[in-house]
Amino acid sequence: MIALREQAPGKVNLCLFLGPTRPDRRHELVTVFQPLTLADDVSLTPAPLGAGADEVLCPGVEGENLAAVALRAFRARTGWAGAPVRLTIDKRIPVAAGMAGGSADAGAALRLAARAAGIDDDALLLDIAEGLGADVPAQVRPGRALATGAGETLAPLGAPPAYGVAILPSHERLSTADVFREADRLGLARDAEGLAERLAAVRATAGDLPGELLLNDLQPAATSLCPAIADALEVVRAAGARHALVCGSGPTVAGLFDDPTGARVAVAMLSDRDPRPVAVTPWEARS
Ligand code: ATP
Repeated sequence: MIALREQAPGKVNLCLFLGPTRPDRRHELVTVFQPLTLADDVSLTPAPLGAGADEVLCPGVEGENLAAVALRAFRARTGWAGAPVRLTIDKRIPVAAGMAGGSADAGAALRLAARAAGIDDDALLLDIAEGLGADVPAQVRPGRALATGAGETLAPLGAPPAYGVAILPSHERLSTADVFREADRLGLARDAEGLAERLAAVRATAGDLPGELLLNDLQPAATSLCPAIADALEVVRAAGARHALVCGSGPTVAGLFDDPTGARVAVAMLSDRDPRPVAVTPWEARS
């Protein structure tokens, strides 16, 4: 087997509306996932001679890797008994930062395993992905999508407009579970009717969201746990962003610009920030 490679794009939620809690204790959501060109590089090669099991190398991430869980789930579900593989992840997406990097790597691991096994069945990969986390199905074939349920029910949206995004990473990390708990404490969830109304509004736009829908209901919760977010939002607006919002559960902040040049100029203006901001564009799904 030669090396197989996949990119695992991080995402921003262009909107994230938080609804009531379901019987499985997850919140219902209405969100638009927009993958970005800020992506991890993931490669799959044969494991070194003598290795008895698959291995995942991912410098910068401690503990069990979601990509390793994905590989295990793939083998268990498909019965694939190919020789052990090594998955190498070159992290570019900030960790525990609201950009779903772990889910992106898990999605890439499933695509790579399917290629290695010669299995061409996206429905099966989606099914495996659902068992790995609510954000993973969206990463099986990354593309702009409207997600409902707890984020696992996906409706693809067309190609994104050519805008620019300035990403302001943070040294702080936020756990998604902590941010949802804080959202509950602050009473941020909408009722079922309020969520349905937002869903109708998002659907009416076909995904090209006007300013009043570029909103993340988790933002006050993330800012409450990490007050530096407020400053980052302000800074990127002052650098010309048309809109600024927290990525997912934060603390990364995204500034949206009408075109890629605007984002590049803003990032140049903010180059003395630590960590350094990056200018990216929407990821375009390959057909
Ligand atoms: P979520 O996907 O829940 O929105 P996030 O985007 O905020 O999460 P991730 O970067 O996916 O954050 O990391 C969440 C946690 O998952 C980290 O604390 C990390 O220890 C663990 N993790 C496991 N595998 C990975 C991976 N491949 N990349 C990043 N984090 C991983």
